[in-house]
Amino acid sequence: MPDVPTITLNNQVQIPQLGFGVFQVPPEDTADVVLEAFDVGYRHIDTAEMYGNEAGVGEAIRRSGLDRGDVFVTSKLDNGFHEYDDALAAFDETLERLGGDYVDLFLVHWPMPKSTDYLKTWHALEQILDRGGARAIGVSNFEPDHLRRVIDGSDTVPAVNQIEIHPYFAQNELRAVNAEHGIATEAWSPIAQGEVLDDPVLTEIGERHGKTSAQVALRWHVQRGDIVFPKTVTPERMRENFEIFDVELDADEMERIDGLDRGHRRGPHPDEMN
Ligand code: NDP
Repeated sequence: MPDVPTITLNNQVQIPQLGFGVFQVPPEDTADVVLEAFDVGYRHIDTAEMYGNEAGVGEAIRRSGLDRGDVFVTSKLDNGFHEYDDALAAFDETLERLGGDYVDLFLVHWPMPKSTDYLKTWHALEQILDRGGARAIGVSNFEPDHLRRVIDGSDTVPAVNQIEIHPYFAQNELRAVNAEHGIATEAWSPIAQGEVLDDPVLTEIGERHGKTSAQVALRWHVQRGDIVFPKTVTPERMRENFEIFDVELDADEMERIDGLDRGHRRGPHPDEMN
């Protein structure tokens, strides 16, 4: 089993650079799917209140027999709970569903700037951090102006910004803003839910290394320094996505994949999400 590198967050917490995402994993299947992922070697699980499957993640951790300290769990605040007290209450329910008395990383899932004040929501996450409910706190889908408002208006720089990134949507400007503030970038939908997998550049580079296009795309993310957590319910793909640490893309290959960027956003624009 290859060792997964870790990234050190801005409060010194270590996060495995490769994890396992459970968006769209049916709640009733989640415990078995996550147990399978643990079996492959994943030790970082990315869930959210919105996914409805935190309880399955918690069940998998208990059934696995793994030490809780050996697993990194991220969850995210759902959009309907941005009011300060609602955020605290929703977090308590997250803990109840996951079991145990902390999560490793808790994120504001979307900024919701049209309908809520995400700075107040951020203050609730700071409270959760202060009382030890989360080892680190961060944001997701935050644009540069959202980040600046949170940084200027609070005492805590988000540890991560989890955003859509894949070879067709490289997000270099936002990644640079994250880096400028010491915020780690997490790439969601790292293979664009499969959309990039037939790309001839990825398949050709893969053939050269005896790797699949999914492995090439994931390797590109990792070499850029981002954190990824591809989702799959298929055990062979879990193994495939894990086997990206025995290959190195050279500068020319990285550049060719960089060149695939076409600003193709699949999810909603964070300013429009309501
Ligand atoms: P991914 O880019 O991880 O793609 C998942 C899809 O690709 C599934 O349909 C899966 O199929 C398929 N797949 C996975 N591996 C392979 C492979 N090796 N070969 C071929 N097909 C493959 O998309 P997600 O949107 O799930 O993103 C990953 C994670 O990011 C989520 O699970 C979630 O944790 C997070 N996320 C966060 C968001 C946010 O707003 N913060 C938004 C969206 C995602 P199958 O399962 O059938 O095998």
